Amino acid sequence: MDRGQAEKRVLELREILWVNSRRYYVENAPTMSDFDYDRLMRELEDLESEYPDLRVPDSPTQRVGSDLDKGFAQYPHKYPMLSLGNTYNIGEIEDFAGRAVKELGDVSFSYSCELKFDGTAISLTYRNGKLFRALTRGDGVVGDDVTANVRMIGNVPLSLSGSGWPEEFEIRGEILMPYESFDRLNRERLDNEEPPFANPRNAASGSLKLQDPKEVARRGLMCTLYHIPAGSVPFATHSEALDAAASWGLPISGERRIVKDIEGIEEYISYWDKQRRFLPFATDGIVIKINELEYQEALGFTAKSPRWAVAFKFQAEEALTRLLSIDYQVGRTGAVTPVANLSPVQLAGTVVKRATLNNEDFISQMDIRVGDMVKVIKGGEIIPKIIDVDLSKRPADAVKPVFPETCPDCGTRLVKDEDEARWFCPNIDGCPTQIKGKLVHFLSRKAMNVLAGDATVERMYNLGLVRTPADFYSLDKRMLMTLEGWKDRSAERFLESLAASREVPFERVLFALGIRHIGETTAKELARRFGDIDSLAEASVESLLEARDIGEVIASSVRDYFSVPAHLEEIERLKAAGLRFSVEERVASSDALAGKSIVISGNFSVSRDEMKRLIETNGGKNSSSVSGKTDFLLAGSKPGPEKIRKAEELGVRIIGEDEFMNMINVLPLAAAREDEVEPTLF
Ligand code: NAD
Repeated sequence: MDRGQAEKRVLELREILWVNSRRYYVENAPTMSDFDYDRLMRELEDLESEYPDLRVPDSPTQRVGSDLDKGFAQYPHKYPMLSLGNTYNIGEIEDFAGRAVKELGDVSFSYSCELKFDGTAISLTYRNGKLFRALTRGDGVVGDDVTANVRMIGNVPLSLSGSGWPEEFEIRGEILMPYESFDRLNRERLDNEEPPFANPRNAASGSLKLQDPKEVARRGLMCTLYHIPAGSVPFATHSEALDAAASWGLPISGERRIVKDIEGIEEYISYWDKQRRFLPFATDGIVIKINELEYQEALGFTAKSPRWAVAFKFQAEEALTRLLSIDYQVGRTGAVTPVANLSPVQLAGTVVKRATLNNEDFISQMDIRVGDMVKVIKGGEIIPKIIDVDLSKRPADAVKPVFPETCPDCGTRLVKDEDEARWFCPNIDGCPTQIKGKLVHFLSRKAMNVLAGDATVERMYNLGLVRTPADFYSLDKRMLMTLEGWKDRSAERFLESLAASREVPFERVLFALGIRHIGETTAKELARRFGDIDSLAEASVESLLEARDIGEVIASSVRDYFSVPAHLEEIERLKAAGLRFSVEERVASSDALAGKSIVISGNFSVSRDEMKRLIETNGGKNSSSVSGKTDFLLAGSKPGPEKIRKAEELGVRIIGEDEFMNMINVLPLAAAREDEVEPTLF
């Protein structure tokens, strides 16, 4: 390759890597496999070494991928937070060990071998034994402040135990989503017709960046810590520092080992290459670090990673199989999802026959054709994913898929929303698949929690017993007994369960209506903010946008829903059936805050005026700036960094919305009602 060609390729590689880095770190939705990303990065590194004048400071080879998000306050890292050099090749681990021996000379040192946890990096600062701040890696120099969210992670101690910790120190590690939580979350997302997370890593980093700490608590994250920056604590070795941290109650991995030589490293790698599949969380390799801090310091850092550590990455378990055909499935909100039918193949202990193809863009970006040999991975994920096409095996008769122009069920012309990659069947109230999907969703456990499975709903629909959710409430025993196999008892149980659903709280009724983009959390948010269905039906786009986490897509979906007369009629019928369409009165008045001076900052689930009113009706006093006389800083999402800094300096307690609501005895809706209706197994 001459210089001109090299320059062209360097620019091309940078562009590809930046685009994919953004998808991976910020959108949490990668479309390229890590292996391919690393291969392209290596190609760029090689070209930049061959032509050093082509290397620029902002090349992806010189900077860590940034996860910074404008929704968070940002703080600088005391020590830069870097990446790790990585390889998939054991020979390069030998080179790493060889280089260390050469550079350090005739000294005796050891290696710390550790699991490479596949989550998202975190830096915790403890001050006087208390968790003071949690920052993401960000761009390596500054990180996003996710302290409120990290506080919600069960195994992160808010206060240290034991003794001997420095007054202030930093410790770094990974936030992980165990497979169990990941599977549960993705099942919920599929139920809500939200796109599932591609893998536990993306799910962990997406969850860590939520604006609602309570939702973070629900996600079941965990933390494992593996690094204390040298200079932060007075120890001679990395392993001593971690042992001390473990004695202070910090979650430190028990799987690390100290080994003397490359044989020890190789043994550790081959052991975990097999055993890692029995771990309850994802790992993507092994990290090898020089254990003596003195030698770490001597080896130093490159622009992007330490010279005293390296990662050996495992290749994701994958299988090559043939794409036989593509089904286009219509969901309850009308989204049409392409699903690949594969020649059955054994993968990670199960036989894989189907895999999601996400959307039309995914198919065209990958240039997938029916008949192709495709690479499938399944690393703990419940949905197998196609990550590559083997072009060398493409048969001559491979067929380029044509996305249908009309709904595979009702024949209506499909539409594509602006900014959305998915096609929809707009016949929301007439497409049988959508109607049945909506009926099933209405009765589902997280919605009205009525005892009836998909097949029962399908039969009720086919017999003409139900067309809309309100029809369920007109069913009587005689009608139900026309269902094949139904006897007195089954009909009674169904009717009892239906009667119990009249007690389901408003936010779940709202979720049950199946309004596009209104998942469980959004429904809670809207119920909490608007209080009843009539206020929500009349809400303008502007007032919807004021609610937490409600963007334009959701706001216009709500407006569209309530502009359809048939929907308003349906709501009237459901009201007449006795369903709850308003939240209970929540306004409290007490003297719980008597004499307290409170400053508020940031956004809350209700308007700031409402927050101020709550402070006053409970005996407190609002002040606009933080001073020594302030009792609490009540911080919502995106609080002013200046106010937070001042409160921290003056030792003013910072409280969140939920803690505040607890103080005045107003239980946050979600917590108060989560358990009201016992889930029933069908
Ligand atoms: P990395 O994930 O390869 O390795 C560094 C990270 O490992 C550290 O930041 C830390 O968070 C983590 N880690 C886990 N266990 C550790 C331990 N015991 N000790 C120290 N660190 C440990 O690097 P990265 O910079 O976070 O991400 C780069 C990688 O991300 C790439 O190599 C690529 O595989 C992947 N990526 C993929 C895409 C894509 O489109 N698929 C895009 C961007 C990045």
